[in-house]
Amino acid sequence: MIHFIDGQFLAKDSINVSIDDRGYYFGDGVYEVVKVYDGELYTAEEHIERLFQSASKVKMTVPYSEQQLIDIAKELVKVNGIVTGHIYMQVTRGVAARVHQFPNPGTAPVVTAYAVHNPRPMKTIENGVRTIIVDDIRWLRCDIKSLNLLGNVLAKQEAYEAGCAEAIFVRDGIVTEGSSSNMFGIKDGVVYTHPASNLILNGITRRVVLKLCEQNGITVKEETFSPDEALEMDEFFMTSTTAEITPVIMIDGKAIGSGEPGPITKKLQEAFTRQIPVSVVGE
Ligand SMILES: *Cc1c(COP(=O)(O)O)cnc(C)c1O
Repeated sequence: MIHFIDGQFLAKDSINVSIDDRGYYFGDGVYEVVKVYDGELYTAEEHIERLFQSASKVKMTVPYSEQQLIDIAKELVKVNGIVTGHIYMQVTRGVAARVHQFPNPGTAPVVTAYAVHNPRPMKTIENGVRTIIVDDIRWLRCDIKSLNLLGNVLAKQEAYEAGCAEAIFVRDGIVTEGSSSNMFGIKDGVVYTHPASNLILNGITRRVVLKLCEQNGITVKEETFSPDEALEMDEFFMTSTTAEITPVIMIDGKAIGSGEPGPITKKLQEAFTRQIPVSVVGE
């Protein structure tokens, strides 16, 4: 596969990255994942814009324009022949001897990106997934898509060890989000999700779903709910760039609603599929 690093497109095996990269020492960087459907980038502008926002929130500059980053992503799709997959893109604060404070202003941020073939996860989209609840031990700037993902990594691992696909974070008695997804509950026809704040990553898929609710006459309340309320929901689902809209059929061993993907979730999934350019279904 051909990767992008610092202005060049290179074969993965020929790439050397510095051991002094601050991404390596501190996780000092930000990233994005952009979905590719039928060889086309999906909601790329929104993702690139969020990358700039994440960078700005940690006082980092991105050494390219939004259009240049989109062009890099398009080139990766092309040279790697990606039909359905995604682009991963990250920016670190650059290469410098390891001290916590920022390096000299002249230090160039390091931009890397790659493309990967990744079919739509149709099995879990159709059948749903099981989840567990874990303590949200992360920092208080979850609105930044930071490379620092230890809290997320530990949560996801705990879920996998419990035979589940995702961990649902709870902070101060409130469901915030998943380890790599946003969480939605449906009660009496109303869709609930944690408001966009410093406690969650405001997902692009989350925003698409909010728009689809509006377009389909489904009431949404960006209001918090507790784990107990989550268990009492009629339906539950999670969203992310790669998971799209995935039904959550079980939380901590307890079935949600009928224990199967619910009707409003399915309606939203159909609306989602209608607005992505897919002529082929996933695997
Ligand atoms: C990336 C991410 C999401 C989902 O965001 P999308 O833009 O929909 O992919 C949700 N939560 C966390 C913690 C994430 O890192």
